[in-house]
Amino acid sequence: MIEINHVNKWYGPSFQALKDCTTSVAKGEVVVVCGPSGSGKSTLIKCVNALEPIQGGEIILDGVKVNDPKTDLPKLRSRVGMVFQHFELFPHLRIVDNLCLAQEKVLGRKHEDALAKGMKLLERVGLKDHAKKFPAELSGGQQQRVAIARALAMDPIAMLFDEPTSALDPEMISEVLDVMVDLAREGMTMMVVTHEMGFANKVADRVIFMDRGEIVEDAKKADFFGQP
Ligand code: ADP
Ligand code: ADP
Repeated sequence: MIEINHVNKWYGPSFQALKDCTTSVAKGEVVVVCGPSGSGKSTLIKCVNALEPIQGGEIILDGVKVNDPKTDLPKLRSRVGMVFQHFELFPHLRIVDNLCLAQEKVLGRKHEDALAKGMKLLERVGLKDHAKKFPAELSGGQQQRVAIARALAMDPIAMLFDEPTSALDPEMISEVLDVMVDLAREGMTMMVVTHEMGFANKVADRVIFMDRGEIVEDAKKADFFGQP
């Protein structure tokens, strides 16, 4: 589903953030990316949906080459769900409208259909009763669950997560991880940057460890955690 082949990325002429990175995520696979701060984890997943350009190698998403000038990037990005550390909900829109906006504007869904889908997903993340609220009225954990629901509303072929729990108070981390665990178990293709090794241990198929722009380990979970 996601192929990353010999990718090199520079920020400016002198700083190489990714060095010959090669890995892949198969359909239905959950890959956790970990490593020290500044090692290039966030950069790697931003390159997958071309939020950052690459200078060498190739990335192929569901058969489409991402780093090709002919690729329709808005269309490609609309098919990959992305959840960031900061929830990035539209602050002036009610939760329900946050869920409908891209479905209507990007996918051209009718309002009733977008609304039905949005409400179903809100129920799934346990927030149906908060539909009429504004983001600022929700806790960080609730906002992040809305962000996940909003990404799922687009019927993504894969989900990318960039430290989805690191901006949350400790007591809210598990409510977000629980939603992610459910998604993983339902067979969603996921690439997750996180320090939550409990999550990795529960649902990851593989764990990638990055250091200074290189993928230094890419192992099946059992090998990574040293389990039988
Ligand atoms: P991680 O997610 O592992 O913390 P990042 O991918 O965010 O690492 O960053 C990798 C390196 O690239 C860091 O040294 C960071 O300072 C640098 N970096 C990230 N984004 C930019 C940018 N837009 N311009 C210049 N350097 C950047
Ligand atoms: P994250 O790791 O969640 O991407 P960061 O705090 O590392 O968040 O980066 C926030 C923003 O600043 C990102 O858009 C990143 O590309 C940019 N950035 C990070 N490091 C640098 C840097 N050394 N120079 C310029 N921009 C940077």
